[in-house]
Amino acid sequence: MDFLRPATWDEALAAKAELPGALPVQGGTDVMVEINFAARRPEALLDLTRIGALADWDTVDGRLRVGAGVTYARLIAELGGRLPGLAQASRTVGSPQIRNRGTVGGNLGAASPAGDGHPPLLAGDAVVEAESAARGVRMIPAAEFFTGVKRNALAPDELIRAFWTAPASGPQYFAKIGTRNAMVIAVCSFAIALHPAERRVGTGLGSAAPTPRRAPEAEEFIAAELDWDGRGPLSEPARRRFGELVAAASAPIDDVRGTGAYRAHALAVLARRTLAWAWNDHRKEARRCA
Ligand SMILES: Cc1cc2nc3c(=O)[nH]c(=O)nc-3n(C[C@H](O)[C@H](O)[C@H](O)COP(=O)(O)OP(=O)(O)OC[C@H]3O[C@@H](n4cnc5c(N)ncnc54)[C@H](O)[C@@H]3O)c2cc1C
Repeated sequence: MDFLRPATWDEALAAKAELPGALPVQGGTDVMVEINFAARRPEALLDLTRIGALADWDTVDGRLRVGAGVTYARLIAELGGRLPGLAQASRTVGSPQIRNRGTVGGNLGAASPAGDGHPPLLAGDAVVEAESAARGVRMIPAAEFFTGVKRNALAPDELIRAFWTAPASGPQYFAKIGTRNAMVIAVCSFAIALHPAERRVGTGLGSAAPTPRRAPEAEEFIAAELDWDGRGPLSEPARRRFGELVAAASAPIDDVRGTGAYRAHALAVLARRTLAWAWNDHRKEARRCA
């Protein structure tokens, strides 16, 4: 197996164009497990860790552009205040060792339905910046990025350069059910983001369908129910209905981690709970500013 070590982004794109079967490696926390267990035998590994630009993040026209090589540990430390939902999800990934190596870029590349980075990216309207030597940059909304179980919208000659998302404009939460608190693949997970200026609510469901997905009906329902002007309390029937609509948006399977019925039930609970937390934060913030 060849081991390619491009020093620049352009070299990496050229290598991927020449050898589309080369498997990119960022933190290696998914790739090395697959290779060690002989689940994959790529013709070459394309090591991206020498490309410093991938490990940078920046603010461009008010939006964050986070390089595919920014680790979970750095995301938590440097962007936790601006991306609280994604930072909460990042804190639940693996162990400190995994968070020191693993990246959201690699999470996107692996495209597991259980990837913890995906629900907050969906709730926050993130966009994936992909690039190829032949066709240049392509911006792919997170909601269109996941195409099947562990499949994504990247073409064979494309690499993920970064993801783009706005800093939180309202409360964000991520909640995950696992069989223990750390080093656990989600039985199911849920992310919510309030966008008060636009009177919108974003959602993201994990481990609940063949791909991570949003719950559009739940989003529309609750955006219309919330008292954005008066910032009145959340009604119990609205909270319950939101949970039901989130559960209805899922298509979970039975597997060793849980049954589909349990996952749907748990999603409704997580959705109700995180909505209440987010709305309470929004009301508190409004009182503080009044
Ligand atoms: C012990 C352990 C615990 C874990 N716990 C969790 C957990 O709690 N939650 C969770 O979500 N995941 C977990 N994982 C999985 C893994 O850590 C994450 O998916 C992580 O985000 C992968 O990032 P990475 O940089 O290591 O990716 P890599 O392993 O380097 O790559 C992952 C995939 O993305 C592709 N890729 C990488 N970079 C690019 C790029 N720039 N362009 C295109 N494709 C690219 C690779 O080819 C590969 O298919 C765990 C893994 C281990 C070993």
